[in-house]
Formats: sequence, structure tokens, C-alpha cells
Amino acid sequence: MSSIAENIDQIEKGLKQETRLIAVTKTKPEEVLLEAYQAGCKRFGENKVQEMTAKYEALPKDIEWHMIGHLQTNKVKYMAPYVALVHSVDSFKLLKEINKEAAKHKRVINCLLQIFIAREETKFGLSEEEAIEILTSPALKTLQNVRILGLMGMASNTNDQNMIRNEFRGLKSLFETFKKYNNEQISMQELSMGMSADYNIAMEEGSTLIRVGSFIFGSR
Ligand SMILES: *Cc1c(COP(=O)(O)O)cnc(C)c1O
Repeated sequence: MSSIAENIDQIEKGLKQETRLIAVTKTKPEEVLLEAYQAGCKRFGENKVQEMTAKYEALPKDIEWHMIGHLQTNKVKYMAPYVALVHSVDSFKLLKEINKEAAKHKRVINCLLQIFIAREETKFGLSEEEAIEILTSPALKTLQNVRILGLMGMASNTNDQNMIRNEFRGLKSLFETFKKYNNEQISMQELSMGMSADYNIAMEEGSTLIRVGSFIFGSR
């Protein structure tokens, strides 16, 4: 079995110039994160706010913390002081709450809109229409403490590589289209797509952030 350092190295070697790795560390204990950190990985993705906050408090302060999981508004306050990027914004209400808590810390919090691209019913995310509604909402201009930096999506959990590729391609195309909304608050520059099973396809289709867990750390 290969080590965490070897797995990270293998991914890093294959990264495209525009793509960065986020190591998904959910459910893994702090020692394991420290091992990844010592192997040079400084970007971690978590899906639960309390778990991420406990790890943030315990670990070195030059780590970037990425929230990749579905969020309840009442948890936003715990991560507002430090979160680097929220990948999973799926409502205007959530964006408003992030803005409110960011303002308390005099921060601007970077966010991605999570878009639903998979076939499954279970995955969270906005439709294209809902995303446009947020991007064009006059009320967005009042939220001075958030910035929308791009889109996130999860492909279907399937062996059908063509289906996965088409879903990623659709998201990339939406990302390009949405650049027409760029302004002081919206800057389409990050495309978060690709996990352990499909990050190579995602990179071929233009991902800038891959979120990889089990390939690095083993199964959860
Ligand atoms: C868990 C998770 C990942 C990582 O999944 P792996 O298959 O372990 O690489 C990526 N993105 C999100 C949103 C996740 O919840």
C-alpha cells in the first residue's frame, strides 16, 4: 500500500497548470491531516463545520480550509473567521448568512455556487435557472462581504465515463457563459470539479480545483 505522501505526490505530478488539489479530510483524525501537511499539502476540504473548526484550531495556521458539504445557516458563524472558500452555496439565503457572519469579522468570504449536474436525486445544488437568479439578483449587490468566484459540481456516481465527462463539460460551459455576469462581486475563475474516481476526466474538462479524499487517505 502506498503512503499518503506518495499518493499526494502522484496527484500533484499529474496536475494541469491551472488545477490545484484540495485534500478531502472529512472523518480523518488530526494526525492524518498533519501527515498530509508534512507532505506539502496545505489545502483541506471538510463537509461538517464543527469537525472542520476543531481541526482548524488544532492544526497549523497556514492551512486553507475549504467547506465542501451542504451547510445549515446556523453553522456558518463557526467557520466565518477562517474559511478560505465555501464550495457549497446552494441558496440565496445561505449567501446572505455567510455575508452577515463575514461582516462581523470584517472579511470578504469567497464562495462558489454549487450546481446540480448529476442524474441522482440525492445531490444538492442549484439548477442553471436558480444560479442565474442569484447572479442577477439586485439584492446581491447589498452583500458586500461575499464574492462569487466560480462554480462547483459533482458528477453522477457511475462507471459511465462518457456520462461523467458530459456532466463536467456541461458545468464548464455554464462557467464560461456565466463570465458575462462578472462584476466587482462576481468573478468566474474557479471551477471545482473532480473527486477520487473522476478527477482526471474533470481536469481534462477544465477543472481548477479537484477535491480528492479516498485516493489519498483510503476509504472512509
Ligand atoms: C467526500 C467528498 C469528496 C471526496 O470524495 P472522494 O471520492 O473520497 O475523493 C469530494 N467532494 C465532496 C463534495 C465530498 O463530499
